[in-house]
Amino acid sequence: MLGVTRVEGRSRDGRDGLQGVFAGRRFAPDRPPEPGRRGLPSSLTDVGVAASPGTVLSAPDAVGYDGAVRVGGGPMSVVGGPRTLGALYAGIDLGGTNIAGVMADADGLVRAEANEPTRSEEGPDGVLTRIARMIDALAGEAGARPSAVGVPGLVDLERGRTRFLPNFPTQWRDVPVRDALAPRAGCEVHLLNDARAATLGELTYGHGRGSGTMVFFSVGTGVGGGVAIDGRLRLGPLGAAGELGHQTIVPDGPLCGCGNRGCLEALASGPALAAEGVRLVLSGQAPRLRETVGGDLAAVTPGTMAEAAAAGDAAVRAAIDRVAAYLGVGAANMVVALHPDLVVFGGGVAELGDLLLDGVRAEVRRRVGMLPAGSVRIDRSLLGARAGVLGAVALAAAGGLRPAPPARPM
Ligand SMILES: [Zn+2]
Repeated sequence: MLGVTRVEGRSRDGRDGLQGVFAGRRFAPDRPPEPGRRGLPSSLTDVGVAASPGTVLSAPDAVGYDGAVRVGGGPMSVVGGPRTLGALYAGIDLGGTNIAGVMADADGLVRAEANEPTRSEEGPDGVLTRIARMIDALAGEAGARPSAVGVPGLVDLERGRTRFLPNFPTQWRDVPVRDALAPRAGCEVHLLNDARAATLGELTYGHGRGSGTMVFFSVGTGVGGGVAIDGRLRLGPLGAAGELGHQTIVPDGPLCGCGNRGCLEALASGPALAAEGVRLVLSGQAPRLRETVGGDLAAVTPGTMAEAAAAGDAAVRAAIDRVAAYLGVGAANMVVALHPDLVVFGGGVAELGDLLLDGVRAEVRRRVGMLPAGSVRIDRSLLGARAGVLGAVALAAAGGLRPAPPARPM
């Protein structure tokens, strides 16, 4: 890890005081940033800093950077150690298997991070105690206590209680997470639905920066989502707006966990894709996949299916294409409803990258005739697995989000 370095310099056109803050590799998301965007490295040995004086670049701007710093083609001098930080915020991602935590500033610069097993069998009290200890450890590493903590999960926004965590024993029904954690963390605690938190992360630190309207699909064990309109996360009166995985795609399709049939989640989640992979192995239509997993059906995942498709399993490739088409239908519905400038796919299944997204893009172009669908950018999350935890940081830095009050008639 390179840590955080402040740089200053003079550009070729003589502007003084350009500066940027660069974080080391440790903070890199799963792929390099795209060249050409403001402040992004155009290659690993060249950073084009377009920041104005006083502007700091957020961590995702500087990912993977490990070379000489240049402004406008001229070298910059590195003039300092770690910059003086403003307030720090803790983001905690409470998953069924792991608890991930980061300590970062409001620009998304990560100062410390931690990961440990959830051990949900210990119940809410044990898990919350370990979260509090994780916050202590993060504060020790970062050298400051957090000003606020953000926690993604399915929650009652007003009361700061968990409503339902399906992956946990007893499902954490009505656990007062906010009130239990705040005294132990020594600061305010804010809760937000996990997919909405990931949307907020992408909106604040990822592709969504500068975007007006963004639609975010989180495709993993389930299909979650979020919608940002005019740069603001749309929560609805209950914080439930953005359940994009529960739009009906096939009226008589498979039963969904929500009780409806043919939801996008029932057709295009990781388990839905893997189930089709298992069926193809068992029916002898996926010899490469059988080989890839060594006959172990539990190892059939979107990842191993992508390998098998690349190795020549046409039926597996068709299954991935079908999931891409379903996701494309869901995205097309959102595009005609909202005309976003950006549709982002996060979650484990989105790790398939263009193998999946090319099909999504084609389906959106095929189905959207009412507006120029080609102008809607469809991309994979810039933050990857960190979208949720950085969204929690953004939530904490914002002092929490409240559902919008009902609009008055014009
Ligand atoms: Zn559903």
